[in-house]
Amino acid sequence: MTPFYRNFGQGKKTRKIHSGSNWKEITKAGNIYEPGNASTYETGGWRTLKPVWNEERCIHCLICWRYCPDASIIATDGKFDSFNYKHCKGCGICANVCPVHAIDMFSEDEIDEQKEARRNE
Ligand code: SF4
Ligand code: SF4
Repeated sequence: MTPFYRNFGQGKKTRKIHSGSNWKEITKAGNIYEPGNASTYETGGWRTLKPVWNEERCIHCLICWRYCPDASIIATDGKFDSFNYKHCKGCGICANVCPVHAIDMFSEDEIDEQKEARRNE
């Protein structure tokens, strides 16, 4: 993750902001002074539900791509390609807008259990 620094004013030192920074060190109102930092902030860790694509049903209309609030749907050559799970928060909007129900939402726990069951087969 790109480090974020807060400048305490002219002639004062600049400090690095990190998860252990106290409230006096963070910016007022949580303002962000570094442009484009959303790409380095991986929100996928917030997810409890995971979208799973069904290739057979997909008609590549890319409605999901237009509606995803996190730009987490990757399209290649005008077709659905994959999810960017590093940034997908699992909001389920893509599954809701898909006209042919080609995206199913599964709980992360359920997926982990399925993987574990497959490993034990
Ligand atoms: S909205 Fe559904 S059908 Fe359209 S590209 Fe996305 S997954 Fe495929
Ligand atoms: S679940 Fe939400 S964040 Fe994830 S790909 Fe679908 S619309 Fe985007």
